[in-house]
Amino acid sequence: MTTTHNLGFPRIGKHRELKRAVEAYWAGELDAAGLEAVGRDLRRRHWQLQGDAGLDRIPVGDFSWYDQVLDMSCLLGVVPPRFDWDGGEVDLDTLFRMARGRARNDAGDTPVDACEMTKWFDTNYHYIVPEVRRDQVFKISSNRLFAEVDEALALGIDARPVILGPLTWLWLAKVRDPAGDFDRLELLDDLLAVYGEILNRLAEKGVQWVQVDEPILVLDLPRAWQSAFETAYNRLQRRDLKLLLATYFGELGDNLRLAATLPVAGLHIDVVRGEDQLINVLDHAATYKVISLGLINGRNIWRSDLDRCLQLVEQARRKGEHELWLAPSCSLLHVPVDLDEETDLDDELRSWLAFAVQKLDELRVLKAALDEGPDSEVARPALAAARAASASRRDSTRIHKPAVRERLATISEDMLQRRSPYAARREKQRQWLDLPAFPTTTIGSFPQTPRIRELRRDYRQGRLAEGDYVQAMRNEIQRVVRKQEELGLDVLAHGEPERNDMVEYFGEQLDGFAFTRNGWVQSYGTRCVKPPIIYGDVSRPRPMTVDWIAYAQSCTERPMKGMLTGPVTILNWSFARDDQPRADTAMQIALALRDEVLDLEAAGIRIIQIDEAALRERLPLRRRDWQAYLDWAVRAFRLTASSVADETQIHTHMCYSEFNDIIAAIADMDADVITIETSRSNMELLDAFKDFRYPNEIGPGVYDIHSPNVPTREHIVGLMKKAAQRVDAGRLWVNPDCGLKTRQWPEVEAALKTMVEAARELRAGA
Ligand code: GLN
Ligand code: ZN
Repeated sequence: MTTTHNLGFPRIGKHRELKRAVEAYWAGELDAAGLEAVGRDLRRRHWQLQGDAGLDRIPVGDFSWYDQVLDMSCLLGVVPPRFDWDGGEVDLDTLFRMARGRARNDAGDTPVDACEMTKWFDTNYHYIVPEVRRDQVFKISSNRLFAEVDEALALGIDARPVILGPLTWLWLAKVRDPAGDFDRLELLDDLLAVYGEILNRLAEKGVQWVQVDEPILVLDLPRAWQSAFETAYNRLQRRDLKLLLATYFGELGDNLRLAATLPVAGLHIDVVRGEDQLINVLDHAATYKVISLGLINGRNIWRSDLDRCLQLVEQARRKGEHELWLAPSCSLLHVPVDLDEETDLDDELRSWLAFAVQKLDELRVLKAALDEGPDSEVARPALAAARAASASRRDSTRIHKPAVRERLATISEDMLQRRSPYAARREKQRQWLDLPAFPTTTIGSFPQTPRIRELRRDYRQGRLAEGDYVQAMRNEIQRVVRKQEELGLDVLAHGEPERNDMVEYFGEQLDGFAFTRNGWVQSYGTRCVKPPIIYGDVSRPRPMTVDWIAYAQSCTERPMKGMLTGPVTILNWSFARDDQPRADTAMQIALALRDEVLDLEAAGIRIIQIDEAALRERLPLRRRDWQAYLDWAVRAFRLTASSVADETQIHTHMCYSEFNDIIAAIADMDADVITIETSRSNMELLDAFKDFRYPNEIGPGVYDIHSPNVPTREHIVGLMKKAAQRVDAGRLWVNPDCGLKTRQWPEVEAALKTMVEAARELRAGA
């Protein structure tokens, strides 16, 4: 009998119930008991659903109020001192404070910085970075995992607890110690002791298997970390519990032998991104080991080629005597919950897709095909439907558009160059712009108030006529323009009220994109995104932003920034085609955006920001693959940006980027101004700019927009002075870290007012 299982299920709920509940709790509208009830209900539903799909083992512990890495830190008792934790059970409020920080409040509490947050491998999921000190104490400090296991067992679920492995947790941790840096591996011994206790407690509950996630095994690891794996898993070995070591997001590469020989009962490998490693793993792993094959793509929404999956299983079976389990490639956290919610998609398109629920069903079909034969009642129609879907994708004229292909073939090197080098452009731009030193700007969006959302919703649902909608949005734009003038900002933005999301907005207007109603995926905490699906060749039927931006410019004498999302970000934040190279899709999007840039310029917009917020996050996990990615990513950006006159100033924005290692590529994008995230890391990220003489202008974010805290003027001035030690002050801009759409107006006004004052102080001092 074939065993099927799952590494993790999306926790947000198919209607984002989790988001709603957590936000209601934060707002004081739901009490802790109410929140717990929502969580319990979601867990139960998701376990049930996985049971119904015939899974033999069901993950428990994949649920989280905010983030699974943060949960692991809490379980280990790793709470930074600034959160005044009393050392007991880490309660919900402490957990949320670590994630979000604490604003100055009426009770007179001092504001506290949130923990850093960063991308989870090459996904658009963000985790809360653990912070460790040299004298770090580890101690089981949360009962949550154990309680959830009890809860599942009480429901008769064959629970398999999931924990983040010790090495991956430690690898993701950051040293924050007043005494300075040290080697995190020094903490491993103590850490393993607590992992041992966690396993004890799980064993006492009678669970058979524990899934230990060690995705860093697909990264380039220093030798010391490789050997730490041996130490760790030797120590964690035990008789009363089987460990399933889960690797995903890529192939094991040079860690393959290591991973295959660790003394654990099972190894999960990603076969979607690492098909070639399959035979190799079987060759190296002792035959007592279970090998779990991650066959169903947990990172994308395309229906699987089930015939191919079956072939791979056959291949593996012929190869060795290992017990084989079948699973998705990674946790299904990264895909939406249920395609059945998508009643607006046409049947053909729907036949190409599979969300989390459907992916589990694919496992059910594979199991039936293997156990009962491909002609069995369950397997036959399902395999036929999968084949029909592949055939229709191959032939569809909705997907394959000759005109787009032809245009792609005309791209020349010329089209990737600005007319003059930066130095010449800078002079021309300065002349007309005439900005003060330390010019101030924002990243684009302003608070998306309930009123704005309501207007968009009413318009979308046909309750508001187009003319009224446009007028209402224009009023909003005018209001934020006024506000920015009052605040004294130098370069203005229109505020993006018409945009639900920076990628969705563009995708909706481009051909080749499809949208879901409920295809939400968790991005961070309660923030979810609904990635578009790029299913076909991309083109732009008509201008997408010009009317709004031109209107915004008409409201002010000051320069208005046109605001676009860049090709790489649109690609990286969408579910992309798997039937052509990502680079080709990026260039198609870039051609469409290039036309938009030209239309904006023709409409008199002289500053155009092209956001590439997500450029870095899809950096391949292995270093040797970086250059190829960066090459096409930079080309796509340049294709988008390069057609304008020298006088037109191109900005780009990136969030959560660590540039040190890709600074040359960033410089190669040749944007006139780049705004980046830096405040949470205290301008540390700017170190890259010290060694590499970044040629153009830079706006290092001076305050963290993900937290409601209002920065002080001294703080901002201090940060900018730090920045000026690394970058020539004449090339610095002053701006927040990112867009302000998730914030409230009172915070935004206070923060921007302070920011402008800080810029004035800097000018006076300069
Ligand atoms: N222009 C976008 C905004 O301000 C940029 C957002 C982002 O970088 N994530 O919302
Ligand atoms: Zn940003």
